[in-house]
Amino acid sequence: MMHINKKPLIHSNDRPPATAVDTIVIHSIYAKDHADSLSLSACFNVLDTCQVSAHYLISRDGEIWNLVDEDKRAWHAGVSKMPFGDDCRENVNHFSIGIELICEENTDFSSEQYEALALLTSEILNRHPITNIVGHEHIAPGRKVDPGPRFDWPRYRALVEGGISAGRTVRFPL
Ligand SMILES: [Zn+2]
Repeated sequence: MMHINKKPLIHSNDRPPATAVDTIVIHSIYAKDHADSLSLSACFNVLDTCQVSAHYLISRDGEIWNLVDEDKRAWHAGVSKMPFGDDCRENVNHFSIGIELICEENTDFSSEQYEALALLTSEILNRHPITNIVGHEHIAPGRKVDPGPRFDWPRYRALVEGGISAGRTVRFPL
C-alpha cells in the first residue's frame, strides 16, 4: 500500500445519485508566473484560487496527495465530453476521478511521477469499475491541452496494463 498524503480542498460537491465512477482523467498543472512554479504549495494555491480541484495531485518527486474524496465530485474537467464513438457523455466530472501531475509544457514528466501514477491507477481500478483513462485534452479539445505531447501515454499504458487482471479491459485515447 503506497503512502498518500492528505490536503483537503473545498471546491467539490456530490456526484449525481447512483453514479458509477468509470473514468480517470489525467491532467498537468504548474503555477505560471510563480517563482517556484513546480512546487506543491504553489500548485495547491492555483487550484484553490481558480476554485477548482482534483482528487489527486502528484508532485515532481512522486508524492501523491489526495485533495478530494473519491466519492465526491471534484471540479477538474469543466465543460467536457467523452471522446469515443460509442461514449460521448458530457459533464465528465460526474463519473470520473481527476489526477493532476505537476509539470510544465517544456518539462518531461518524471519517472517518479509515472511510477506513482501507475500505482495510484491500479488502486483506483481495484475500487471502481474503471473502463476509460483519458487526458483533459481529449475531453475538452480546443479548450484544454493538458497533459500534452510530453506525457508518454504508451509508457503509462504499459505500466497500467502490466498490473491489471486478465480479461479486464481499460480503454485509452491512444
Ligand atoms: Zn486539466
